Amino acid sequence: MVQRFDVSERFAAGAQYVAGKPASGTSGRSHPVVDPATGERVLTFGLAGAADVDAAVGAARAAFPEWAGATPAERSEAMHRWAVRLGELSEEFVYAESLQCGKPLKLSREFDIPGSFDNVAFFAGAARGLTGVAAGEYSGGHTSYVRREPLGVIGSIAPWNYPLQMAAWKVLPAVAAGNTIVLKPSELTPLTSLMFAAAAQEAGIPDGVINIVTGAGKDAGEALVGHPDVAMTSFTGSTAVGRRVAEIATTASRAAKRLHLELGGKAPFLVFDDADVAAAAHGAVAGALINTGQDCTAATRAYVQRPLYEAFVTAVADLMSGVRVGDPFAEGTDLGPLISHAQRDRVAAFVERARAYATVVTGGQAPGGELAKGAYYLPTLVTGAPQGSEIVQQEIFGPVLVVLPFDTDDEGIALANDTPYGLAASAWSRDVFRTGRASRELQAGCVWLNDHIPIISEMPHGGYKASGHGKDMSAYSFEEYTQIKHVMSETTGAVRKDWHRTVFGDR
Ligand code: NAD
Repeated sequence: MVQRFDVSERFAAGAQYVAGKPASGTSGRSHPVVDPATGERVLTFGLAGAADVDAAVGAARAAFPEWAGATPAERSEAMHRWAVRLGELSEEFVYAESLQCGKPLKLSREFDIPGSFDNVAFFAGAARGLTGVAAGEYSGGHTSYVRREPLGVIGSIAPWNYPLQMAAWKVLPAVAAGNTIVLKPSELTPLTSLMFAAAAQEAGIPDGVINIVTGAGKDAGEALVGHPDVAMTSFTGSTAVGRRVAEIATTASRAAKRLHLELGGKAPFLVFDDADVAAAAHGAVAGALINTGQDCTAATRAYVQRPLYEAFVTAVADLMSGVRVGDPFAEGTDLGPLISHAQRDRVAAFVERARAYATVVTGGQAPGGELAKGAYYLPTLVTGAPQGSEIVQQEIFGPVLVVLPFDTDDEGIALANDTPYGLAASAWSRDVFRTGRASRELQAGCVWLNDHIPIISEMPHGGYKASGHGKDMSAYSFEEYTQIKHVMSETTGAVRKDWHRTVFGDR
């Protein structure tokens, strides 16, 4: 059971949140929020256009001086109150996230929502501890110290797969460091971002510090990235759109804007021949199917050393067939639908094309019966695909795992590194020298040893290679959302400083 509420009534004022108030988008175009488990519309809202982006940036700009001038303790206290308010609303967030994404209740309740709220608590504390090197007389005649300053208005763009978590990862380090923000959630999933901003306002975070514009990428998204009053663009989404965003951010009115890109992934899952095969098979199935495979760090390519290969494939197929696909709001459901019918069809097309060159061991189809109207797709295991094939190389973003064998450790590591992406990877072995080598040589921003997926607020998340650059979560994210100023204060008051000799000689 979950506490349901009337979505169209709650968001009757619109799917924008500007200067502390909900508003309707003025682009003249509307968009639905659809329950992917049923295909039914739950809300139709007016999309934001360039004028709405401009208003939101204006509100963020107006709020900046006061928020940036607040003490770290004041910002921290406001964020702690926000965390408390969110805790009171927890079940409403669970409902909204499960409804707009089709997430099983247990995923929303045990992962998305508490993880996001823990992020708020973490950044409420971290707001008081921005670090730098100690002040000192490094030159001998000056005191040097570092100021870590906010940038101004941040423009952030988030995807639909973990709407609240992605909003939290963008908003929290930005506002903890004294910036104000305009966030554009995916137009498919605006509900929890709007609730997040409203809860901040209820907790006393000033109007205009957090603004939400829900519009289409090409329209509101590009307007936000290119806006001259936006100091930095922080983007999470696909690599293809990330490239477009980078192009605008570096060529629009304010050239070379600060840019933070969290992009796609194609995580390898490397199983050495001394691994616990049952543990590895459980890890692979959970790591591939979490969030119906719509996870940028999901296990997508399992490379298994030859002696364990057959046992691993059998165990994975067996475990996949036991996963209960169904209604996200039924307590027993393990796997919900994909985000949309379009995404389901995209995943199905990858698998259909793979039949020409690989073996679909289990799954490979949408379920029938009651589930046929939703965007469901069965857990799918593929073997025998060539390393260069699209199912091994491209991000599918669905419940599909490819398993391939390898012989030597060198080969396994080389295959794992052989895609353009570098977001996450895991290695499975009971030998510390093998796991140690994997942790050094796997080219990814996160490497798990004998597990795959967990994340924590205290530790950074971000990519290598085509998976982007910059870090979300942890104190490392302050590197993105602050600019560092070196202040050098001369200590002697002398008219002629030592270094003036280079200009005046000995005169
Ligand atoms: P997407 O790239 O299609 O869209 C992401 C966001 O960008 C959406 O809000 C969309 O409206 C907006 N957008 C689209 N075109 C735009 C444009 N031209 N200019 C500005 N904004 C634009 O991605 P998606 O389908 O929403 O999400 C799935 C992708 O996100 C996957 O590739 C996944 O790996 C990635 N992702 C990465 C991380 C990470 O931490 N690296 C986390 C979650 C998701």
